[in-house]
Amino acid sequence: MAAHQDKKPSEERKHKSTQNDTRTSQVQWGRAWEVDWFSLASILLLLLFAPLITYYFIMSCDQYQCSLTDPLIDLLMRNKHLSDIWNRTPTLTYRAAGIYTIWVAFQVVLYVFIPDFCHKFLPGYVGGVQEGAVTPAGVVNKYEINGLQAWIITHVLWFANAYYFHFFSPTIIFDNWIPLLWCANILGYTVSTFAMIKGYFFPTNAKDCKFTGNFFYDYMMGIEFNPRIGKWFDFKLFFNGRPGIVAWTLINLSYAAKQQELYGQVTNSMILVNVLQGIYVLDFFWNEAWYLKTIDICHDHFGWYLGWGDCVWLPYLYTLQGLYLVYHPVQLGTANAIGILMLGLIGYYIFRMTNHQKDLFRRTNGNCKIWGKKPEYIECSYMSVDGTKYYSKLMTSGFWGWARHFNYTGDLMGSLAYCLTCGFEHILPYFYIVYMIILLTHRCIRDEHRCFSKYGKDWKRYTAAVPYRLIPGIF
Ligand code: NDP
Repeated sequence: MAAHQDKKPSEERKHKSTQNDTRTSQVQWGRAWEVDWFSLASILLLLLFAPLITYYFIMSCDQYQCSLTDPLIDLLMRNKHLSDIWNRTPTLTYRAAGIYTIWVAFQVVLYVFIPDFCHKFLPGYVGGVQEGAVTPAGVVNKYEINGLQAWIITHVLWFANAYYFHFFSPTIIFDNWIPLLWCANILGYTVSTFAMIKGYFFPTNAKDCKFTGNFFYDYMMGIEFNPRIGKWFDFKLFFNGRPGIVAWTLINLSYAAKQQELYGQVTNSMILVNVLQGIYVLDFFWNEAWYLKTIDICHDHFGWYLGWGDCVWLPYLYTLQGLYLVYHPVQLGTANAIGILMLGLIGYYIFRMTNHQKDLFRRTNGNCKIWGKKPEYIECSYMSVDGTKYYSKLMTSGFWGWARHFNYTGDLMGSLAYCLTCGFEHILPYFYIVYMIILLTHRCIRDEHRCFSKYGKDWKRYTAAVPYRLIPGIF
């Protein structure tokens, strides 16, 4: 466990807390209670534009060979009206609704009804029932970690169908991509709206709910911290991990199958995208128990940001490189292909090792070796809403001594590698790296703000010891 509870009598705990000059802010860690105008403006823009951006990108591929500028030029030059573009957009179909319903229902069954068996035979894999982090209300939730199993079963069935049963074409996802977009939106909006209503009327844990009083902020950032149905159906773990991330690798496989169908071959760029993103997805499921300690699960409330984002944004925009390569089958030179592979693998190594170092450090409470030495750290404390004091540690050695978020740096290197597979003819595939830079920089700042609220002056000591965020010596 990352933190261990103070066993001192409450009077002493109270006395101790008054010694702390950041007392008031410490008991307010977690997402904001009050909304400043900048957050509100960002949220309104996202609510308005994120669905439009998704549509625009997918439509550009469908109608304009992935050019982001041609639709705008057509509209500005009055060659086309918005209605022309809209009328050419495939609509929701019964077939897509059927595929999507079966897909989500299948993932629910795998998540809820099949306890993990992978941890019984895979050495080093942590699955089965695991505990999450302490919530601001002092609750520790239990989770059934069975994502790797869900991923394996789904992919075994996919390959069995592709090579043996032939019930459906492996291009099924690509062939129904826009009708499926409408289905994903319906689910995304339904689940976010349901989460909001649930937060007001039947929350799983009322003490972990946050209401800002601003409808849009609460809808976007969520009210409930860990909404659940029954004992095991956890909204955050399910929607974050599946159906979107299980689908990620299937979507890429479907794009590869489409290339094969259209051009009689699969390009090395498509193979690179499948391999590098496949490693990232598999890593996610192999480390699903670790994921319980990341910001998504530990700190974010469940609202539109996670609900709609996981259903629509992730599967549609994280897979743009594969989609682009269906329309533009880039065959990379050997040197370029090797260079991109190396960038992707080194990025992945940094991402994984940095995350691993923190996980090991926190699991062993600092009793471990990082790069062959005992880790260095700063002792820190924080309080939950009931005034209970907890102690924790912030590591200042290993990759965590280089920068405060070197795991993000590795992630960004990997993201750049995916984009580079597509060459330089269009900007659409580079959306991912631009988005990741914005997402992770913003996340960095958001996390640091939260950590400061949580740890107060201890956090200041930490930032003095590790002054850079992402790139040592630069930022
Ligand atoms: P981190 O795993 O970096 O977790 C941040 C938390 O770790 C802090 O809130 C703090 O939590 C603790 N912490 C911070 N500094 C230290 C330290 N020096 N020693 C020990 N603990 C520390 O962040 P994320 O959860 O955002 O990211 C996890 C991974 O997921 C990253 O590699 C990121 O790149 C990736 N990611 C990918 C996304 C994608 O869309 N592809 C989106 C988001 C993340 P505490 O309160 O416990 O002290």
